[in-house]
Amino acid sequence: MQVLFYSTKPYDRKYFEAANAQFGFQFRFLDFALNEENAALVKQEKVICVFVNDVVNAAVIQVLKQKGVALIALRCAGFNNVDLEAAASAGIRVVRVPAYSPHAVAEHAVALLLTLNRHVHRAYNRVRDYNFTLTGLEGFDLFKKTVGVVGTGNIGAVFARIMLGFGCKVLAYDIAHNVLLEQQGVRYVSLEKVWAESDVISLHCPLNKATQHMINAHSISQMKRGVTLINTSRGGLVDSHAVAEGLKSRHIGALGIDVYEQEEALFFQDLSGHIIDDEVIMRLMTYPNVLITSHQGFFTKEALTQIADITLMNIRSFENDELLLNQVNALHR
Ligand code: NAD
Repeated sequence: MQVLFYSTKPYDRKYFEAANAQFGFQFRFLDFALNEENAALVKQEKVICVFVNDVVNAAVIQVLKQKGVALIALRCAGFNNVDLEAAASAGIRVVRVPAYSPHAVAEHAVALLLTLNRHVHRAYNRVRDYNFTLTGLEGFDLFKKTVGVVGTGNIGAVFARIMLGFGCKVLAYDIAHNVLLEQQGVRYVSLEKVWAESDVISLHCPLNKATQHMINAHSISQMKRGVTLINTSRGGLVDSHAVAEGLKSRHIGALGIDVYEQEEALFFQDLSGHIIDDEVIMRLMTYPNVLITSHQGFFTKEALTQIADITLMNIRSFENDELLLNQVNALHR
C-alpha cells in the first residue's frame, strides 16, 4: 500500500517511519499543505494522509477522485477541514484518529491557564533581563474558583478531572452527559450558566454548525468580568474580533489559545522575518494577557506514537477490506 503524506514535518516522518516497521507500507512525504493546486501531485497512491490544516474541500476531492484516491486518512481527531458529503459522493472513505492521549491536549490547556494566571511568560522574560521585580505578576489561586468546561469528551473529561484536583468547582456543558464525571463532582449546567458563573472557561467541543463562534460578543457579555478563556479545540469556536474587543474593554481577563480561526496561513510555519497580514492575530499578540501557541496540544511523544499507530492501523483495515472502525461520515457532524 502506497501512502502520500501532505503537511509533513520532521517529527511526522520520525513517528510514522518508526510505526511502519510493523506495517511495511510505502510512504511519500510532501512538506506542504494539500490544496486545489497540488492535489494532482498524487501519483499511484490510493491513500493520502492529511492533518488539521490541509484543505480537503469539494474541489480537492474531485481531483483526488480522478487520481484514484480511495482513502483519506486524517492523522488527527478533528475532521472539520474535510467536506464529508463530497467525499461520500466521490466514493472516497475518510478515517481519523478519534482518540489519542487526551492527556496531551488537556495538560496543554492547563499549561496555558497556569502560565497566564501566574504570568510565567512575562516572568521568564523579566528574569532573563535581570529584572527580578514582581509588580504586575499577581495571579489568583485556582483553588475554589469555578471552571467551566464546554465539551466533556475524551479531552474535556481529563481537563475537568485535573481542575477537580486543583480544588476547583467544575461546571460543564455538553450535549451528552458523562455520568462518571458527575459522580466525581462535575455539575452539568446550561451554557448560559457556564458563561455567567465561571472564572475560567475551557473549550473542548468539536467545531460544527452548532458550535461555530460560540464565543462571540453576546456570550462574552454574559461572562464574569475578568474571565480567563482557554481554547485548545478549534479556532472557529471563537469569534476572534469579539475576543479582541473583550480584551480591550477588560471584560476578558486573559486569553490562552492553541488554535486560531485563520491558523492555516500561519501555524506550523517559520514566518520570522515576514510581514504578517493577519491584523487580528497581530492585535491579539500585543496584549500581555494573551498567550498563543501554534496548535501544539497534541505534541507529546505518547500522542505522536498513538497517532502514527492508529493511522496505520486504519490504513491496514482499509487494505484488508475490513470494517473501518474509525471512519467518519456526514452523520458525525
Ligand atoms: P470527543 O469527541 O471525545 O469530545 C467532544 C465532546 O464535545 C463530546 O462529549 C460531545 O458530546 C461534545 N459536543 C459535541 N457537540 C457539542 C456542542 N454543541 N456543545 C457542547 N459539547 C458538544 O473529542 P476530544 O478528543 O475530546 O477532542 C475535542 C476537540 O479537541 C476536538 O474536536 C478537536 O477539535 C480538538 N483537538 C485539539 C488538539 C490540539 O492539538 N489542540 C488535538 C486533538 C483534538
